[in-house]
This record gives sequence, C-alpha cells and structure tokens, in this order.
Amino acid sequence: MPPNLFLIVIDSLRADVVYGSHVSTPTLDGLIERGTSFTQCVATTTSTTPSFSSILTGCYPPRHGVRGLQGYRLSPEVKTLAETFAAAGYHTHAEVTGPLVPETGILRGFEDANHRQGYRVPFFNWRDGVIDKLRSYVEPWLLLLHIWEVHRPYRSPPDFAKRWDRAGYEAAVAATDRWLAPVLEAAGDALVVVTGDHGEEYPDSAWEHKLVRLARRSRRSLRLQRWAPALDERLASFATGHGFALHEHLVRVPLVLAGPGVPHVAVPDQVRHVDLLPTLAGLCGIAAPDGIDGRSLVPLMAGEALPEEPAYMEAVGVKLEGRRIEGARTPDWKLLRPGEGRPALYKLDGGGPPDEKHNLYGRYPEIARSLENFLDRVRAREAAAPSGMSDEEEAVVEQHLRDLGYL
Ligand SMILES: [Zn+2]
Repeated sequence: MPPNLFLIVIDSLRADVVYGSHVSTPTLDGLIERGTSFTQCVATTTSTTPSFSSILTGCYPPRHGVRGLQGYRLSPEVKTLAETFAAAGYHTHAEVTGPLVPETGILRGFEDANHRQGYRVPFFNWRDGVIDKLRSYVEPWLLLLHIWEVHRPYRSPPDFAKRWDRAGYEAAVAATDRWLAPVLEAAGDALVVVTGDHGEEYPDSAWEHKLVRLARRSRRSLRLQRWAPALDERLASFATGHGFALHEHLVRVPLVLAGPGVPHVAVPDQVRHVDLLPTLAGLCGIAAPDGIDGRSLVPLMAGEALPEEPAYMEAVGVKLEGRRIEGARTPDWKLLRPGEGRPALYKLDGGGPPDEKHNLYGRYPEIARSLENFLDRVRAREAAAPSGMSDEEEAVVEQHLRDLGYL
C-alpha cells in the first residue's frame, strides 16, 4: 500500500521563522528532527493562487497559465497533483480557503474540495472537522490542507503575545504550530509535507513598525502620488505583506517532509516549489506527468548531488496594478526584470545574508545575461491558448478578493 499523503501549506509562512528562530514551533521541529528539511526552498510567486498553481502542477506560471489573482484559470493542458494521484488510485481531498476558489481551476482532480470561509470565523474553530474527516478517509488518501491563520491580519489566541506586526506574525506561527499537533496525530503514519505558499514582509522592530504606518498614512493623506511621485515610490518601498516583490523574505519558504521512506537530513541546496510534485510522486511510486518544469528531489534526500538549476519567479500582486516582475534565482545571484524599468542583479552569497540593495547588473554582465536567457526560455513555454474565465467566474473570484481585503 502506498503511503497516505498529507500536504500542508501554511499561507505566508517564511523560512526563517521555522528554521532556527526564537519562535516556538515544537510540532514543526518534530517533523524536522525525523524528516528531510530543505533549507533553501524558493516559492514560484509571492501571491497565493499562482503559487499554489505551481505547487500543484510542477510548472512555472507561463506553462500553467495562472499569472495573477484575478482573471486566470489553470491551463487545461497541465496535469495536477490531484489528477496524478487519483489516477494512481488515491482518494483526493482538499481543505482550502482564501482566494483558492473552484473557479480558478486549481482544485481540478480533487474528489472533494471544501473551501471554507476561514477568515470570517474565530481563530482555529474548524480543527475538529478536519480531524473527523482525516479519520474517515479511505486509504490511500491525499489531503491538501491550506491554513490561513498566519496570513494578515495576524490573529492568534489570547495566550500568545501580540503587540506589533512582527510579534503578531510570530505569535500566529507559534499558535498554528500548536494547532497542528493533534491534526498530525490523526494523520497517523502519512507522508507529511509542510511548506508556505510564499513568505511575508513585516517590520523587524517596533520602531520600524511605526515608520511603516507613518509612511502608509502620509502617502494616503497627502496624496503624494499626485505631486511627489518619486517620494511616493520611495515610501511605497516600505510595503509589508506579500505579492509586490521578490525579496528573499517573500520567496524563501520552509519545505519539510517526514514519514515513510523519508530520511533524516537537512538539504542546503536551492530547491523549488515546482520540484515538489515530481518528488512526492517519486516517494509514492507514481510516475510524474511529462513536460513539467520541476524535477524529483529524491536524489538530494539520498545524499546525491543534482546539477544546479535556477529558480524562476514572478511577482504579480494586486499592489503592482497589472505590472509583473520576473526573477531568476540561484544560491549566489538574483536577477529581477520589472515589466518596465531597469533590470537588477543582486548578490545572494550562497544562501547567507543577501545584499538586495546594490544593483550589480552593470558589473557582472555575463551572469546577468545567462539569467536573462533562462527567463526567456521559461517565458517561451507560454501556453499556446491561455485559458480565461467567464464573466460570472471572474465576478465570484473578485468578490472573494474583496472579502479578503485585497481589493
Ligand atoms: Zn498566500
């Protein structure tokens, strides 16, 4: 019998709060202690729906077709994780929330997909339902669980401290970790995977928190965009949340696997969300779909090496107002190409503290060119017939985005 597969995606979960931080996460630490942790995992985009689309198809956005939160539907030409596992005899279930509505097409292949209005109910009161369902599933099962409680506005029970943005975020992570423990217990000896769909930007100190709020208020009340666009743009760079950029805090996410056949190892190599589907298929003895952008990470888990491959990234958040920032990342470099505007090249120093302030594009033209060629190659895979949405479907998605405060 192949293992049950429990894929947990915690929305907006940054890598650095899980790996070796002061935030208390005993449940995730337990998974890390017995499983494989990829310490340099890169999300494909910094917005929820396109990022999930890459996790669930092993493809970059040009191929899967979901290039934003609104107006895109998953290309019919890609095969989803749920379709792949269902074809191999798995019973496939999804418990999702936020913008992951059925109209996006990304829930294709799930036998049942429950979209809960999680953001409208008090903190975590839906756990018992998940545990009951977990105990009733016919084996082998696949469950995708999307957790929203780390997403802004950060919420946590009263026994977790919450004073300013960073503390609120960290409290939400700690509370989610505690919430997960009985859910994992109910999942038995399933193959468990935990990741974030993208990271999060928040002020690092209470002082910075005040500055960000002041910048936001000044931009609005003084209408800076009208008479001081340069200053407005400068203050806009104090943005918090996600979706608007491809900074390290926004693209670095944890990726932890534990369960049958998973060795205890920490893998420092750069890996990508598009690698997850072929890896999970490999661990469960299933063939991955052909023609995807990711590759199986099973060799890395076994201590073997894989040739370095860049990660392709896109920022398509609502704050960008239709503009798109493309990016390519290796452990040492990050190239950013905004729709209009100058490209930038930053030195990342092998996963160490990054320098995302000094643009070295002019100084290392060969590195920049090779990463730009990579971007062009990924872009050339653009689906021949982009799959749009009907007006009714678009209205449903828009209403959800409004409820979530995106619009
Ligand atoms: Zn998200």
